[in-house]
Amino acid sequence: MQKLIVKPHHFLDIIKLHGSGLDSFVPAPDFGHDFYRVGNVILENPEVIIQLTIIGDDICIPCKYFDGEKCIGDSNNNPQYQKKEDWNRLIDSRLFEKLNLKDGDEIKALDLVILAKEKIKEKDILEVWKEKIIPQRATFLIKGINKYLENNRK
Ligand code: SF4
Repeated sequence: MQKLIVKPHHFLDIIKLHGSGLDSFVPAPDFGHDFYRVGNVILENPEVIIQLTIIGDDICIPCKYFDGEKCIGDSNNNPQYQKKEDWNRLIDSRLFEKLNLKDGDEIKALDLVILAKEKIKEKDILEVWKEKIIPQRATFLIKGINKYLENNRK
């Protein structure tokens, strides 16, 4: 069975963008990462196994900001967390807590979206990303969760 290693916030970013209207992803040449490839698998295959991680994931591996162990990019517009690695670890830790999951856990993409619907409400989104509030994040993420579940209703 196909398996992907994915950070929780990357997984939810994919679902959020799905909620914003995207139904497929294209490469981002400025980063070179595999967000598009992982995102497309998740949208096309709700049965894919997601192994959750707090370190570099399958999206990071080809990225120009990945040094083989961690992200070396800057966290733009975030004065408290200049290093993207620190910021990512903070929000992924919070997401693990909200989802009651931990580093290394494996779960099907569809089951992770079902869990996100149960555990991640608007107030949770505002808490997890509290240092970096983006107005549409909660709207699109909740929309994306519902859209994914609607598209994959059994
Ligand atoms: S290495 Fe950093 S910038 Fe690149 S995909 Fe991973 S988290 Fe994003």
